[in-house]
Amino acid sequence: VKTLSLRAIVSIIGLLVAVTTAVSVPAGYFAVGYGNLAGLLTYKAKLDADHLSKYIYTHDTLWQYQRVRLTDLLRQDDVDGDHKKVTDASGGLVLEDGQELASPVLSRSVEIGVSGASVGRIEVSSSLRPLVAETGVVAMLSLLLGCAMFLAVRVLPLRVLDRTLGALETTNQRLDMALSNMAQGLCLVDAQDRLVIWNRRFLETFGVPPEMIAEGMSMADFLAVANRAGNLYQEEPEAVLAARRLMRADGEPTMLLRDLADGRVLSVMHRPVRGGGWLSTFEDHTERRDAEAKILHMGLHDALTGLPNRLLFRQRMEHALSHLRRDEQVSVLCLDLDHFKNVNDTLGHPVGDALLRAVADRLKDCVREQDTIARLGGDEFAIVQVAVDPQHVHATSVANRIIEVLSAPYRVEGHQIVVGASVGIAVTPTDGTDQDQLLKNADLALYRAKTDGRGTYRYFEQQMDAAAQARRLLEIDLRAAVAEGQFELHYQPILDLGTDAVVSVEALVRWNHPKRGMIPPLEFIPLAEETGMIVALGEWVLRNACAEAVRWPQDIRVAVNLSPVQFKNRNLVASVANAVAAAGLAPQRLELEITEAVLLQESASTLATLHTLRAFGVRISMDDFGTGYSSLSYLRSFPFDKIKIDRSFITELATRDDAMAIVRAVTGLGKSLGISTTAEGVETNEQLALLRSEGCTEVQGYLLSRPLTAAGIESMLIANEGRAAA
Ligand code: C2E
Ligand code: CA
Ligand code: CA
Repeated sequence: VKTLSLRAIVSIIGLLVAVTTAVSVPAGYFAVGYGNLAGLLTYKAKLDADHLSKYIYTHDTLWQYQRVRLTDLLRQDDVDGDHKKVTDASGGLVLEDGQELASPVLSRSVEIGVSGASVGRIEVSSSLRPLVAETGVVAMLSLLLGCAMFLAVRVLPLRVLDRTLGALETTNQRLDMALSNMAQGLCLVDAQDRLVIWNRRFLETFGVPPEMIAEGMSMADFLAVANRAGNLYQEEPEAVLAARRLMRADGEPTMLLRDLADGRVLSVMHRPVRGGGWLSTFEDHTERRDAEAKILHMGLHDALTGLPNRLLFRQRMEHALSHLRRDEQVSVLCLDLDHFKNVNDTLGHPVGDALLRAVADRLKDCVREQDTIARLGGDEFAIVQVAVDPQHVHATSVANRIIEVLSAPYRVEGHQIVVGASVGIAVTPTDGTDQDQLLKNADLALYRAKTDGRGTYRYFEQQMDAAAQARRLLEIDLRAAVAEGQFELHYQPILDLGTDAVVSVEALVRWNHPKRGMIPPLEFIPLAEETGMIVALGEWVLRNACAEAVRWPQDIRVAVNLSPVQFKNRNLVASVANAVAAAGLAPQRLELEITEAVLLQESASTLATLHTLRAFGVRISMDDFGTGYSSLSYLRSFPFDKIKIDRSFITELATRDDAMAIVRAVTGLGKSLGISTTAEGVETNEQLALLRSEGCTEVQGYLLSRPLTAAGIESMLIANEGRAAA
């Protein structure tokens, strides 16, 4: 409406200016021309009247008849040939001169006076046509001018106006588009807290239909509408309004989180606007809040099982310890699955993961609501619980339950799986009063439970700590020893009973500790196996034994012991081949001694490795035969070149009948299979005689020789060779 009237006003002004121009210019022109002409005619008439009166004065009364003379007189000054008419006092026409004039005609007359009396009148006329014609031309020109003025006054400003309004319109539309496509809700209120601008998202956020609000609506009314729509803040509208008033007072941008009735969270930002009022934006904060909560949860929980992780476990422990009543005790149970690694290695990680989840579920049933179960990593779980004195009764029953519940068979992805569990327990205040100590001691107890045969629980005892400390020291020393090469090999000869000559030599490792002197292998091999250091050490033994053996007579073989851990390492075949090649030793001169424990693990790949080694030319011996559970079945699983009967049977040969029976059975089996049999630990001549009579093919033991240094074995072998040659 406003723009229309503005347009009309501009049009009217333009029209007025144009019309005024078009009319006034020719009118003025005509008026001035008319005035000039009238003046001129009057002047001419006066001049003529003057001439005539002088003439009449001299010629007296008969002047009317002197037409020719009078005409001359009138024509005397006349250049334009005007039309002139002379009348006498009575109005009778005296004469008329000049041509007929085109109308319209303008006439002016004056009296002809002689001696104060009027004798007649003279009238001078002229045609107005030229003036009218000129005025017409001028009118045409001013019409053109008027049109130009109209254009200038109306059309151009309106065009500018239109353009400005158009631009304004586009800006408006863009603003509208921007507002309605905003992800945030937005509203602008004026100083009186009335709605000025809002967008679609704003209404959606509060579930208010667009038709229910209008510009100028007060915030209080809006809150009432939103309240009815059912999706307002959880707070009362009065409280919200009060908060708005407070915010008004300080005039700073405010950011706040508000809970909506439907459970969502809004983040609201109020910014003061110049001249009063607020611009508020509303953003759905629910996802963000949920994500934050999730991140918080993730930081404190194990992703696989959903159980608390080590961090949360420590927090709970801290809490339990600091809120402990006088009659309460905290106990920490560490547990770990027995042989879980086997499951992972043979059935794959997905099955392992599923098993861990199943374990976590079962564990939840073993404890009370207020106890915390956590997964500390891998197959390690821990429980912290608070109970009234005596805690042991409770912890023991929980440990027993856990072991029982976890060892029941699992069905995971079509596999039937059985795993056991070992538990270590530490209780306040005897086993520690802070979380580090409790956790460490529960862990030591767990270690003991595992070394004591697994599937059982152990309470922490002080000496476990001492043993663990000694072990830790040894481990540190062992690392240094591997790095610095503090090892040496001793060699023990093995005698062939058929020829009474040395046929092979077993390499036995020794640790020459800088402070403790020579340490026997049984004291550090298990630790080296546990820590994986046996791999590097075993390679060193292989290389040195082979390098040593090339210095011996050609028919003497060297026997090297291999640990089960070395078979788990994929490089075993390569390191054997390298050792042999580096030394320049014929592979046939190398014997590898393995125990049943090697065959216990990952049978398929172990057997493949053994076959590869054997195909390479290396001989494989079964060591410590008879100490395992199913030695005989293992003998059938791989074609061994030699069986070494364990020392324990030889020691008891003279005292126990069954020892003799076993030796007899093994030698008999060896004979029938074409495998040589070696008796270990032969210390007496009596033992030697018995073994010889039973058909044992080789013997090894202190009776023949203790393990010797490299130099010692070398000189012994060379002396033997010399004797044989002699
Ligand atoms: P083993 O393979 O059964 O080695 C024979 C052990 O019996 C050696 O003990 C040897 O000194 C001892 N022995 C030999 N004859 C007699 C005897 O007449 N009476 C008695 N009482 N003992 C005798 P050692 O050297 O202490 O080695 C112990 C074990 O350590 C070995 O048992 C072997 O299993 C392991 N071992 C030794 N060297 C290595 C090695 O280089 N690598 C690996 N993986 N294990 C090794
Ligand atoms: Ca051996
Ligand atoms: Ca042995």
